[in-house]
Amino acid sequence: AKETGKCNYRFYSSEMNDKIVNKANMEIKLRHAVKNNELGVFYQLQVDIQTGAVTGVEALARWEQSKYDFVSPDDFIPLAEETSLIVPIDEFVLKNACMQNKTWQDMGYPPVHVSVNISAHQFQYQNIIETIGCILDKTGMDPKWLVVEITESAALKDFDSTVKVINRLMEKGVQISLDDFGTGYSSLYYLKQLPINMLKIDKSFVAGITRDPKEENIINALIMLAHSMGIKVVAEGVETQEQLEFLRDKGCDIAQGFLFKKPMPPKDVEYLIKAGK
Ligand code: C2E
Ligand code: CA
Ligand code: CA
Ligand code: CA
Repeated sequence: AKETGKCNYRFYSSEMNDKIVNKANMEIKLRHAVKNNELGVFYQLQVDIQTGAVTGVEALARWEQSKYDFVSPDDFIPLAEETSLIVPIDEFVLKNACMQNKTWQDMGYPPVHVSVNISAHQFQYQNIIETIGCILDKTGMDPKWLVVEITESAALKDFDSTVKVINRLMEKGVQISLDDFGTGYSSLYYLKQLPINMLKIDKSFVAGITRDPKEENIINALIMLAHSMGIKVVAEGVETQEQLEFLRDKGCDIAQGFLFKKPMPPKDVEYLIKAGK
């Protein structure tokens, strides 16, 4: 029994070690990538459901570890959040997105919003307000074209502090979008207390359209509720024509998803913005 125990111990131990080593390696590489400006930004279109016009783009961080070998944000963003590397990453994406959008506007393209994801981590600190203000000043982009996306779970972490930060950003003219709505623990009570301009219905709900009447009802109710509060509704993860038609029929405002375009490098998204659709 002693022998087996020893053997088991070693087995688990080496597996655990592998995990720790892999994570540590990834952290070293990510730190290096951040320091050497090896991260990039892709953009995904947001489209007016009724007219088909491009209303905005969402900026998404990309890490190309080697040629054509991208590390998924679902892997490196959580690691970045654990290690505080998320602070320079979010700042990098924010700066790039504002610069890029200002450039498009200066070239005379139809103006669009640029949405940037800001991690929960940052919403605990008031200096996110300064950081955003500073980047807006430096890039010269009008604040009204910036949409800050904050997840539902982030908003609830420290509700009072989040409301304070949101109010300060709104005073500057920045718009706020509540991301991944429906996946956290938010209640309608919180929705009423949170000053937001947009609400993004999580793609897990959108996936239920034409499949699950219950989820269809939830989406329908959410759209009506949001509209009654003057909040625009964005549906994310729209992949099929049927989903789009359902959303159009229910009066949803904006759609984003692979049905239109995947996230793309700025060069590829540029001509779509120029064309307006
Ligand atoms: P998110 O903010 O919910 O972003 C939307 C994600 O859904 C993106 O994944 C996008 O590629 C994907 N997506 C878009 N359309 C579709 C669709 O039709 N079907 C499906 N299945 N997926 C679709 P991505 O780029 O891999 O990013 C994953 C998550 O990583 C983001 O989720 C966000 O939470 C986080 N993230 C990405 N960039 C940043 C960043 O710069 N800062 C922070 N804090 N988080 C980021
Ligand atoms: Ca988002
Ligand atoms: Ca989302
Ligand atoms: Ca998400």
